[in-house]
Parts: sequence; structure tokens; C-alpha cells
Amino acid sequence: MADYTPTIPDALAGRIRYQDSRFHASQELKGNLILDALFAEYTEKTGASIIPCEWYSPADYEQSFGIRYAHDGLNIGAAGEQSWVDRLLYDLLTRALEKKATDIHVSYMGPYTQINFRRLGRVIPEMTLNGEEGIQFIRGIFQGQYSHAESGFTEHERYDGRIADHKFLPPDLFAVRLHTEPLESPHIYEPGVSLSMRLFYDTTSATGTLKERLGSLGYTSEQQNLIHGFTERSGLTLISGPTGSGKTTTLKNILEALTQYVPTKNYYSLEDPPEYTLLGVKQLKVFTKAASDAERLSALLNALAGLMRSDPDVIMLGEIRYEEAASSAIQAALTGHSVYSTVHASSAIGIIARLHEMGIPLESICTDRVLNGLIYQRLIPHLCPECKQKLTDNLKLLSPELTERLKKIYHGNLDGIYIKGKGCPHCLDMGLVGQQVAAETISCADRKLISYFRENKLYEAQRYWMNECGGKTHVEQALERIASGLVDPVIAEERLGVTLDHDFAYREA
Ligand SMILES: [Zn+2]
Repeated sequence: MADYTPTIPDALAGRIRYQDSRFHASQELKGNLILDALFAEYTEKTGASIIPCEWYSPADYEQSFGIRYAHDGLNIGAAGEQSWVDRLLYDLLTRALEKKATDIHVSYMGPYTQINFRRLGRVIPEMTLNGEEGIQFIRGIFQGQYSHAESGFTEHERYDGRIADHKFLPPDLFAVRLHTEPLESPHIYEPGVSLSMRLFYDTTSATGTLKERLGSLGYTSEQQNLIHGFTERSGLTLISGPTGSGKTTTLKNILEALTQYVPTKNYYSLEDPPEYTLLGVKQLKVFTKAASDAERLSALLNALAGLMRSDPDVIMLGEIRYEEAASSAIQAALTGHSVYSTVHASSAIGIIARLHEMGIPLESICTDRVLNGLIYQRLIPHLCPECKQKLTDNLKLLSPELTERLKKIYHGNLDGIYIKGKGCPHCLDMGLVGQQVAAETISCADRKLISYFRENKLYEAQRYWMNECGGKTHVEQALERIASGLVDPVIAEERLGVTLDHDFAYREA
């Protein structure tokens, strides 16, 4: 018994180790089938009736045993040799993490290759490679062992892939989504290539109550209370916002807070594919290699049917793109489940318009038994407090139109408003520090509001919500942050995609 040493399976490497005659494991492994098999083998080999195992929170585990996937992560290939592609990829991902970039863009243009990072929503040049290196790098990523894309990458076609194997990723990165597009390049006859890499962070360390988590994302305390109310009822809660606006992060935080504070429910998610690890949630994925929409839909509906047979209480659906998926979500809500999902729309009330366009009969969804809440969010960068500049000292930097709008909105008083400075060590030369949501949150418990929805009177609904229900739009939330000197008005307009006076039309004088 004493000289038995279990072999840790590769799939668990970096999250559990056997040391001083006992296991030391990170808590997220609890319930893992491979771990159960390892423990069963240990029991069989040693005759022990109790498994000696110490559990650690993921953060404590990293503290105690070093970073999870580091160092042994890059022994790629049978000979353990790293190619320069492997090294460059790992190095780029590490730098992107340090700078909190959300995306890496690699553009091969023939004679040269430009690599940019997207940080706080802005595209910033990072490095250049010569043309040959660039195309070898892109090909290497698709032909290497990282992504599970089928082989046969060519510059002529669009291509999708994914790096999810933690051996190839720096710690704190959950996955990287890859997408290429052929690119017209004036320099060469063959197409260039644009490779976008979306980074999914492993933010398992977020903690706190639902309200604390929502507060840290930028939700006001009023909005936190509303969303907390949504979680206490069954029904459908839909969240919307442009790509990259952090919808999935918000849903992740809602679900993780629920699993922590209401552990007596059965939580499931269904995504195609999962973007993050959700602690305490059983994550199902849609199994499909299907290319056509019809095949994807049928795989999704199969997965949904399976989910409904798994006795769920709370369900998160990755995104509602199809009428049939929406109908399943409505059915689940009607039968007493809490359902969370995302929809593409341009405002909270715009979600109703989107559902209508998808062919959902509004009378079936717009009842207080089905619809719980509507959330819309965009991300707005916040100014670096160390180097921001007073607007009134820099009025010449603004367009005359924006200056006029600001004077109108703030009744001529621009004293508290700041704009982005040149950057300093505090903000890593960005002039900005982090992003917060500008959001709007609508409870569907109000009968008059929901009857406007049912009749598809969305203009009236917007006015009623704003003027009678105390509703505040995401643009108005941004305006308050501008007035407090937290947000640059130029960046806010850029990011909101509308002029800052956009919602005045709905307000009654
Ligand atoms: Zn600064």
C-alpha cells in the first residue's frame, strides 16, 4: 500500500496532484468522472476506505501549487520540441492576457503581417511579422495540434477553429475561438488572410452575492434589485447587447451567484459551444459538426429535449437564434423553470421587436407568466483618474456638433466633464482603466407595459416605461457617468452608436 503512487490522468493534470501520500485537488474537480475513476482505482489498489484528499479553492490551489497549466504546458509534439509557432502563439496569448486584450487580430497582407490587440474595445497595434512568417504562423495554428479544426486550411476559404486544450493556453485563459477570412490585398495576387482570435477568460475567481457581482460589472443598485427579483421567479429573462458587450459574463455571474446562494436547485446550461466554465452548473453542449442552419437547429432541439428530461430548475441557453428554440424556451418558462438567454437586439424593448421578427406570437410570450425581465447592456470604458483631462480646457478637441449637444444636455455646464488624456503608467498608456456596463433593465411584472408588448406598441411601451415606471435607458446611464467625469463623451458616443441626446425624444417634458 505504501509504495502505490497513483498516476494522474492527463485530463486532470495541473488541477490535482499526489504528494506526501495524499491527493491535493482543486474544488472544481468535485464530481468529475475521471477523478471518480482515479479515486476508485486508488481504493482498489490500497484497500483504503477513505480517500486522503485535501480540497482547495481554484485560487488557493494555484497559490499553493503554482500556476495551473504553466511550464509543462508547452511540451508539444512527441519529441517535446516547441516550434517557433508554438512559442510565438503562447507568447502572444500571454501578452494579450497581461494587457487584458479581448481579441488578437492577425492580418497577413503579402509582404507583411500586422498583429493588433483589441483592448477596452479599441484596436491597438502590437507587432508586425514579415509576410512569410505571418502566413506560416496562421497555417501553423490551424495545422498544429491546438485546434480541432479539420486539416486542410487554405487562404481561399473562411475557417473556424478553437483552442480549448489547456496544455496550449496560458493560465486564466479558458479557450480561444479562431476565425479566418480571405482578404483582398493590393500587394499580392493570392488572397491575404485575416485571423481573429477571441479570448475567453477563465474568471473562476469572481465571488460575492448577485448584487455585489452585478455592481462590479457596472449595474446600478436599482438595476441590481430588479435583476435579483428576476432570479426569485420562474420565467424567461432575456439579455441583449452587441457582440463583445459582456452579455455572457453577466449571465455567468447571475448563474454562479445563484448556484452559490441557492444550491438546492438543479442548474444546467446549453451552449454551442460553452464559452466559460460555470461553477456549479452542469454544462451541456450541442453536439454537431453540422454546417447548415437546419442541421444545427435539429442538433440544438435534440439537446434541448435531452436537457428537459434531466429535471432542471434553472436553464441557461447560449443564444436564441431560431423560432423553434424560442418556443422551447417559452415552454420551459411556462412549466415553471427559470430560463436565461441572450437575443440580438438594440435595446431592452428591442428584444420584443426581435422576437416578433423571429415569428414568435407576442401573445404567447408577453404574459407575466412567461416573461420575467429584459436586460440590455453595452460596455463603456472608464477614464484613467490619473491622466484624464478637463473638457473645458480642451474644447477644441471636440466636434462643434458634440459640444453643442453637451451644452444642451447639461444646460451649458460642462465643468465636471473629463476626456481621455495621453496615458500614463497607471493605465498602461491607454488613458482608460477597465470597462463598465451602461445598461437598462425592465421588469415585465407591470400589466400595462406587458399589454403594450403584446400589441407590439413598442414606441408607447418605451415612453410608458421611461415616464411612468421610472425607467432609465443605457444612454441616460452613460450621461450620468459623463457628468461625473468617469466617461469620455466622445468615446461614449462612439461606443453607444447613437448621439447622446438619442433618448430625449421619449421623455415627456
Ligand atoms: Zn492614465
